[in-house]
Amino acid sequence: MSVFETIKVDVTLRQAAEHYGLRVPPSGMTCCPFHKDRHPSLKLNEDYFFCFGCGSAGDVIDFTARLFGLSCYEAAQKLASDFGISAEPGQVTTGASKSKPPQWHQSRLDELRCRRVLTDYLHLLKEWKIRYAPPTPEDILDDRFVASCQQYDRIAYLLDFLTHASVEERDSTIAALLADGSIASWENCLAEDRKEERRRAKETEIA
Ligand SMILES: [Zn+2]
Repeated sequence: MSVFETIKVDVTLRQAAEHYGLRVPPSGMTCCPFHKDRHPSLKLNEDYFFCFGCGSAGDVIDFTARLFGLSCYEAAQKLASDFGISAEPGQVTTGASKSKPPQWHQSRLDELRCRRVLTDYLHLLKEWKIRYAPPTPEDILDDRFVASCQQYDRIAYLLDFLTHASVEERDSTIAALLADGSIASWENCLAEDRKEERRRAKETEIA
């Protein structure tokens, strides 16, 4: 079997897409990285992709080649190295290397980061609203409960906006959120909460 055939058997489109930073819902429909996609129009099947927006189509090697601006041969080499598949018959490669997608446009990477932070933060706010709700109306309100009440709608709106706005609108909103430190502060909250969670888990272990 050639390296091309091996890769096509061993690596599904979903695996490659997710490895290279795309978020793929169970439906397999995702925003196309090959054109300015407003709504998810790229369908990832097990062994081929097709974009209803720009018509691009192909297998996992074509996909990787387009994503990184490589030839098919180079894309196959990259997939082999990233997924720990032996590129030449009889040659052993050691494990998957975690390479960053270098050719991916920075703004799309920023968008992935923003979406991830917003989704996780929205989830956290939802939890806070329940976890820190005042037991009686007379109780002093916990800051996290207040934050949840104040910010939930805005974060939900931002996420919705990033799903439906044009590429230009998305890019300028994301740039603003990064520039004014919003994203960094939400990431901070999430990191703090994970610490808190670990601390509480330890306490229950001891108790
Ligand atoms: Zn497309």
